Amino acid sequence: VLKYSPFVVSFRKHYPWVQLSGHAGNFQAGANGRILKRFCQCEQRSLEQLMGDPLRPFVPTYYGTVQQAGQAFNQMEDLLADFEGPSIMDCKMGSRTYLEEELVKARERPRPRKDMYEKMVAVDPGAPTPEEHAQGAITKPRYMQWRETMSSTSTLGFRIEGIKKADGTCNTNFKKTQALEQVTKVLEDFVDGDHGILRKYVMRLEELRDTLENSPFFETHEVVGSSLLFVHDHTGLAKVWMIDFGKTVALPDHQTLSHRLPWAEGNREDGYLWGLDNLICILQGLAQS
Ligand code: ATP
Ligand code: MG
Ligand code: MG
Repeated sequence: VLKYSPFVVSFRKHYPWVQLSGHAGNFQAGANGRILKRFCQCEQRSLEQLMGDPLRPFVPTYYGTVQQAGQAFNQMEDLLADFEGPSIMDCKMGSRTYLEEELVKARERPRPRKDMYEKMVAVDPGAPTPEEHAQGAITKPRYMQWRETMSSTSTLGFRIEGIKKADGTCNTNFKKTQALEQVTKVLEDFVDGDHGILRKYVMRLEELRDTLENSPFFETHEVVGSSLLFVHDHTGLAKVWMIDFGKTVALPDHQTLSHRLPWAEGNREDGYLWGLDNLICILQGLAQS
C-alpha cells in the first residue's frame, strides 16, 4: 500500500559530476548545489567583483573560499544542478589563450623543451622547423603561439574544449578543429539540430553580449582562457554561463579594452567579443537553416 506524505519532500537528484577541462583534482563536490574549485587568487578577485557587476546573472554565484583537508577552494554554484541529464559544452573564448605576461615570462629564459616538441609533433608532425626537428625541442613561447594557430582560437576567436552529450558520448579532442565548416558541424551535432535549443542559446548569448558591452568589469579586464559553458537538457532548458576566471586580470589604471580589435603585443586585446560575435553568427545560421 502506498502512503502519501502530506509534505512535499524535495531532494536533489544525483548526477555524475562532469568536468570538460582542467586537472581532475581541481574540483570537489561542495554542499547542496555547489562545487569547490582549487583556490586561485585571480579567480577569487574576479568572482567577487562579478557579484557586483551587471554580468552577475551570467556567472556562477560565488560563495567565498573554504578550507577542506588543508587546501583552499573557491566555492561556487554548480551550474548543472537544475538540469536533467544535461548535454554540456565548454567553449574557450578569445583569440589568445595565454596572458601577455605569460609570453613575456616564457621568453625570459627560452630553454629548448623536449616535452613541448613532443606535444607539437603528436598534433602535427609537420609543424616543427628543420632546426627544431634536429634539436628535438622547441621553446615555450614558440609552443604557445603555435598552439593557437591549430584550433579556431586564432581564426574565429573561440575554440571548443569539450562536449559531453546526454547520450553519454564525450569528446575533448578538438585541438585541430579549426575550419568554420568543422566547427559549425560540431555545434550542430551538440544540439542534435534542435532549432528550439539553438534559438534559446542565441537569445541568451545576445543578452550576454549586450551585458558585456555595458559591464564595467569587462571593460577593465583582460579576459583570457575563460569559457562559455553551454548546458541544455531534454526538457528544453538551455542556458549559457561564463566560467573560469583564472586568467582574468585587471588592466592598469584607466586602461580599457574593446575586446574586438586584433591583438598586437602590448595592447592586451583578448578578442573575446570578436569570438562571441562569430559564435552567435554561426548559431544563428544553424537556427535558421
Ligand atoms: P582549464 O584552465 O584547463 O580550462 P580549470 O581548472 O581552470 O581548467 P575550469 O575551466 O574552470 O577549470 O572548469 C573545468 C570544467 O569543469 C569545465 O569545462 C566544466 O565542465 C566544469 N565546471 C567548471 N565550473 C563549473 C560550474 N560552476 N558548474 C558546473 N560545471 C563547472
Ligand atoms: Mg577552463
Ligand atoms: Mg582555467
